Amino acid sequence: MKYDFVIIGAGIVGSAVALSLIREGHSVAVIEHSRLGQQDLVKDKTQVFMLNSSSLSILRDIGTWSQINHDQYNQVFDIKILGDGLSEINFNSSNADFSALGYTVEKHNLLEVLHRQLQQSNMAVFDNQKIENLVWGKNHISVQLKQNKNITSDVIVAADGANSYVRNLANIKAKTNYYNQIAIVCRLVGRASKAVAYQWFQKKGNVVALLPINENEFGLVWSISEDLGLDMISKGKGLLIRELKEITSCDVGELEIVDQPKYFPINAIHPESVIKTRLALVGDAAGTIHPMAGQGLNLGLLDARILSDVFSKKANSSIFSTLRRYERRRAEKVAIMRGITNGLYKIFSSDVMASSYLRAYGLKIFERAPALKKLAFKVASN
Ligand SMILES: Cc1cc2nc3c(=O)[nH]c(=O)nc-3n(C[C@H](O)[C@H](O)[C@H](O)COP(=O)(O)OP(=O)(O)OC[C@H]3O[C@@H](n4cnc5c(N)ncnc54)[C@H](O)[C@@H]3O)c2cc1C
Repeated sequence: MKYDFVIIGAGIVGSAVALSLIREGHSVAVIEHSRLGQQDLVKDKTQVFMLNSSSLSILRDIGTWSQINHDQYNQVFDIKILGDGLSEINFNSSNADFSALGYTVEKHNLLEVLHRQLQQSNMAVFDNQKIENLVWGKNHISVQLKQNKNITSDVIVAADGANSYVRNLANIKAKTNYYNQIAIVCRLVGRASKAVAYQWFQKKGNVVALLPINENEFGLVWSISEDLGLDMISKGKGLLIRELKEITSCDVGELEIVDQPKYFPINAIHPESVIKTRLALVGDAAGTIHPMAGQGLNLGLLDARILSDVFSKKANSSIFSTLRRYERRRAEKVAIMRGITNGLYKIFSSDVMASSYLRAYGLKIFERAPALKKLAFKVASN
């Protein structure tokens, strides 16, 4: 059988792409190298995402959001951004004209629902598979799996994450910008207001983000220089919590770590192209950005929407020109987000006095400019 699309990778983005395309009436197969439902990712409860309204609308359209229980997500109405002086920016949903500024959700809850949907849909799901090669034919593209099985389709969508093996097989080169930072993630108990998310921008580009999960729990994303972060992790939770308390002062009460902190290297990957003949890259496979703006998954879900839009059944052009439309439509948003995160990193990682002054001054100007705040939020939400 030849499918319209084969999606490689059933993370959040791959699953969303598959469900969007099947909704458009395409035949779809999904290949995942872990066993669905048993991925470490599903069992891992350390990661919390903040989704924007555009992501929410995509997840609503594919029927995922209605299956997330009310107690498994949280609406954020205020975001407080604090600098290393006394400067502060406050975003509130009422001045941004949004019902909520974002929605926090735990990764495992989202993946559990998406995987259930994949298994209950009429798409073919090949999990626990190892990909050997890609073969381009005249009117198709095939994936060769380890067990000598070939799966053929019109288009392959690579959703296999930041170190995409499919991107390598397709010989698409990627540049990597190393920030020499890691992101420490874990869950914390503290005095959370469900409605408020916090970010502390520190010198050397270190950023502490606390995303409220419920009344008294936060998800921590701490971007910190690699040597400092690894040293702290090796010395145990005690040091980590002491350092955190110093940064967060009394804003969120007495913090306590409730699970084993994990960390990820932070880098920005920039592939030279996100398409090739009969192939599209989506999500982290199509590039990564610094997590300080919490936008990576939002961009990946936007890829899912754009790809299924351009390939909607009404579209009537060749596969390659349709892939070009996908490439063009996502490019601007990705470039803006990449520019914003790189710019913020540069300002906040600079150590010279002037920059410290600029940080405080910049935050003050921003705080007093409602139009600027509205614009920033518009960019981050659509
Ligand atoms: C610390 C941190 C915090 C973040 N916070 C936010 C946030 O608040 N908001 C936000 O929008 N973004 C956030 N991001 C970004 C977000 O995590 C990623 O952009 C998003 O998870 C990428 O999803 P993905 O499905 O593209 O890739 P992945 O989650 O990496 O999924 C890839 C899938 O492909 C499978 N796979 C891999 N290789 C193969 C193969 N060879 N064959 C078959 N299957 C394969 C994997 O098993 C997995 O299921 C954060 C990132 C970090 C590091």
